[in-house]
Amino acid sequence: MITSVMPTYARIDVAFERGEGVYLFDTNGRRYLDFVAGIAVDALGHCHPHLVEQLTSQVGKLWHTSNLYRVPGQEKLADRLVANTFADSVFFTNSGAEAIECSLKAARRYHATNGAPERFRVICANNAFHGRTLATIAAGGQAKHLDGFGPVVEGFDHVPFGNMNEMRAAITPETAAILVEPVQGEGGVTPAPEGYLKALRETADEFGILLIFDEVQCGVARSGKFFAHEWSGITPDVMAVAKGIGGGFPVGACLAVEKVALALSAGTHGTTYGGNPLAMSAANAVLDIVLEDGFMGHVEQSGRYLRRQLEGLVSKYPSLLADVRGMGLMLGLKCVEEGKNAILNGKLFELGLLTALAGDNVVRFVPPLIVTQDQIDEAITIIDNACQSLGAEG
Ligand SMILES: *Cc1c(COP(=O)(O)O)cnc(C)c1O
Repeated sequence: MITSVMPTYARIDVAFERGEGVYLFDTNGRRYLDFVAGIAVDALGHCHPHLVEQLTSQVGKLWHTSNLYRVPGQEKLADRLVANTFADSVFFTNSGAEAIECSLKAARRYHATNGAPERFRVICANNAFHGRTLATIAAGGQAKHLDGFGPVVEGFDHVPFGNMNEMRAAITPETAAILVEPVQGEGGVTPAPEGYLKALRETADEFGILLIFDEVQCGVARSGKFFAHEWSGITPDVMAVAKGIGGGFPVGACLAVEKVALALSAGTHGTTYGGNPLAMSAANAVLDIVLEDGFMGHVEQSGRYLRRQLEGLVSKYPSLLADVRGMGLMLGLKCVEEGKNAILNGKLFELGLLTALAGDNVVRFVPPLIVTQDQIDEAITIIDNACQSLGAEG
């Protein structure tokens, strides 16, 4: 018989009752070190005092009014995003997929309103992940997500991530945009190769097409900079953001330069919930902390430390662990033997460390950005024990 909750997830049989910083407590009172953080969502961990205070105060004032009216929290958050990024204007959503949908619609409409409605196709990367709506599974292009949901939404082409020759060869007079994740998340925690984002920028400019970055997972300080593309020294025309920006409250955003944002004139796009006062209070509280002096430096330093410790384990268990990849506090540990990532992930759970899987045989670490060196040491001890008990030999 079917469960009342639709069985779209093969869930682990645990339920959490309470969270505190980087720790979660299940309904039996057992403590877990949380290096999943709600899949890179709980950027400030669980129940961060500033978020609790800001959100609690907003709960007693106003939750939702709709986008028929001005929302001061939206104006404040948009001003801050504009001041701290390439963008001139922001549309707020409730999820990453909706932020991508907005980006795709903006790209099509930009060309349509500039006399080139034939430009509607978007070139994406193999192993991409952009969400689970009909258009975003087409953008992701992965057979496992498309199976049984045809016909596939038209207008998406795919090329190998990091390969400029294939990217250039895929451009046609119908191409509207290039869409990539600066660090592929679900695909295997794979950063764009050196020089790739810059080459994409130059190519997009050469052909008059737009460059869209999906920073839903790698954005909001996770890479050690506010947005991961900042490491490359170039900027996109459009960027989708979500996950970390709400700190656990559902918030997404589509950021765009003026020429693109102008195409989404009044009435062309909308959302009932997107950017409501409660959501904006959560996201503004997240930015209060993330934009503080020293925050990104802490992430970069912690990321470097975690990476070094993981690399130590790769040297210690070469028959089990192949390499460490990623940026900042978005790291992946690739296993040698196919499918071993799931076994290691399960063992870590047993030992009280929460991690997630990613493609390419990877165990993914996306802890709260406030994680301390002691907590990283605690995680490393657990991973070391897990490797030992999996019978790996050095
Ligand atoms: C999670 C994710 C999405 C989808 O976000 P949802 O909030 O689940 O719709 C899109 N792109 C990337 C890179 C993601 O990691």
